[in-house]
Amino acid sequence: MKGPALKEKLAARIRAHGPITVADYMAACLADPDAGYYITRDPFGKKGDFITAPEVSQMFGELIGAFCLQAYLDLGAPGAFQLVELGPGRGTLMADLLRMASLRPEFVDAASLSLVETSPALRKVQAKTLEKAPLTPAFHDRFANVPDGPLILVANEFFDALPIHQYVKTADGWPERMIGLSDEGDLCFGIGTGRLDDTELPPEAQNAPEGTILETQPAANAITQEIGTRLARHGGAALIIDYGYLKTATGDTLQALYKHTHDDVLAHPGNADLTAHVNFETLARAAQEGGAKPLPPLEQGEFLLRLGLLERAGVLGSGKSNAVQDTIRDAVERLAAPDQMGALFKVLALSGNGRALPPFDM
Ligand code: SAH
Repeated sequence: MKGPALKEKLAARIRAHGPITVADYMAACLADPDAGYYITRDPFGKKGDFITAPEVSQMFGELIGAFCLQAYLDLGAPGAFQLVELGPGRGTLMADLLRMASLRPEFVDAASLSLVETSPALRKVQAKTLEKAPLTPAFHDRFANVPDGPLILVANEFFDALPIHQYVKTADGWPERMIGLSDEGDLCFGIGTGRLDDTELPPEAQNAPEGTILETQPAANAITQEIGTRLARHGGAALIIDYGYLKTATGDTLQALYKHTHDDVLAHPGNADLTAHVNFETLARAAQEGGAKPLPPLEQGEFLLRLGLLERAGVLGSGKSNAVQDTIRDAVERLAAPDQMGALFKVLALSGNGRALPPFDM
């Protein structure tokens, strides 16, 4: 399906049933079975709309492989466990992770690999990337379908793609922000009849001025609670990496990215990437409700440096040409510098048994 089609489909839906929530809009734009952004394309890389950390450098996935290997050994090296990635993109992170973790053959011998991916187009890319990997992936539409057992799970830039709701402060409370049609028939923001439950209003938003936006992420929290339940029941560790904020705050973080530039979120439904910042405070709380222990999150830069990013860069660059060494140095900057991905991206680790997960503090 081509460009304007999803816009028309949404307009018809709104004409028939009334305005839709921001969450419904996000879900349709990203995952509509015919025209969803991820369903129809491979959006990564220079030609796509954005570049993610695993696509910046192999060092990212390798260091996460080192984390997973350590977590596996700390679990007592079980004879069987589920290695799971949520939203694997091109499969690059998993390929790099497995190359590193294969240094201990018992890790791959014990692992069953599950990839949670809804996009048929990306499943194909992932299978191809992992063709030579030591494990063959099983694909699942949802985390709930992944087989039980001790769990080691990673998710990079997965949670920012899950639907959020937005609420707007008005004179009489917090009605939900909706998407409807203007008199000209264009998609436009408005206010609906649903409202934020008072019990859901965080202290940070209590005295907010009119017009303030508050976001909630029930889908992200529900998956994290499920992960927490599995970890508590069977043991293991989860690593959630994304851009977001550590403490609940108000503000509109919904954004569209179209050909590497910011775009009006209503302009290109299905053809632009749509994301929202992740609230790590409520994510950690959801994991805890499931029974797992969230460790104090680290910024991505600190996380990678503690895992040995500079040492790995040194080994990779040793004996190579100046051009290769420059590329590696650029990648280190990009991944870890505070003004690039280093501070905006946060890393949350969840522990099943409440014990330490290096390099996180307790
Ligand atoms: N982790 C990858 C890709 C991030 S993009 C990387 O770092 O490069 C988001 C990924 O999540 C894509 O693979 C997308 O298809 C997938 N995805 C988005 N929403 C999903 C959902 N609800 N269920 C399963 N996969 C989803």
